[in-house]
Amino acid sequence: MGHIAENLTVVRGQVDRAAAGVGREVDLLVVSKTWPAEVVREAVDAGQLRFGENRLQEGEEKIPVLPDSLEWHFIGGLQRNKVRRVLSLFSVVHSISSMKLARYTNRVAGELGLVPKIYLEVNIGEEESKHGFFADDLRSGLEEILTFENLSLQGLMCIPPKVEKPEDARPWFAKVRELRDELEVRGAIQLPGLSMGMSGDFEVAIEEGSTIVRVGSVIFGPRLNRI
Ligand SMILES: *Cc1c(COP(=O)(O)O)cnc(C)c1O
Repeated sequence: MGHIAENLTVVRGQVDRAAAGVGREVDLLVVSKTWPAEVVREAVDAGQLRFGENRLQEGEEKIPVLPDSLEWHFIGGLQRNKVRRVLSLFSVVHSISSMKLARYTNRVAGELGLVPKIYLEVNIGEEESKHGFFADDLRSGLEEILTFENLSLQGLMCIPPKVEKPEDARPWFAKVRELRDELEVRGAIQLPGLSMGMSGDFEVAIEEGSTIVRVGSVIFGPRLNRI
């Protein structure tokens, strides 16, 4: 077994164990950004079907040369002028980060006859350096978001503020879960999805409600250009 297949087995075991501990199913999204298609193929050969990319151009290079059976998730900063191409390649978008972008994505999805699954990205630490809705934007925007017929709203996504130890991320994950619970009541809707947890903190994220973890470097190794 190559090191990617081995790492995948280990990480799947960790995800499944943490998920079993809280009695929920949790999906593993393997983040393949910066790794070329032949490296991604090793993970495919090891049975992985769900991959995440954060740049459109990388997706345009890899997705067409890998099997059609894969499910591609867009997890990066999304600019308006890329929405159309992102929707034509990726079936799930984790980074809908503002009302304007949600509105526009809904419109483009309608034009393309697509209903992408989407997560609303929450800037839970209200950091200037990050994209995403503030909690209050979501509270006030929810009613309009629920009118977007061409978006299949899964739930919330977050990248919490940088912390020293995984355990320190716990309050941020809990805050996102509580916000989700509040929005469910406010909108009388189900928002089952929570996209949270990365290589360093996915077990804590699962304990706090994550339903899909986005994991790259513990599977492929450290990226040369950290992006
Ligand atoms: C790169 C990236 C990840 C994965 O990060 P790792 O630390 O390599 O697991 C997860 N989510 C987003 C949005 C990313 O850009």
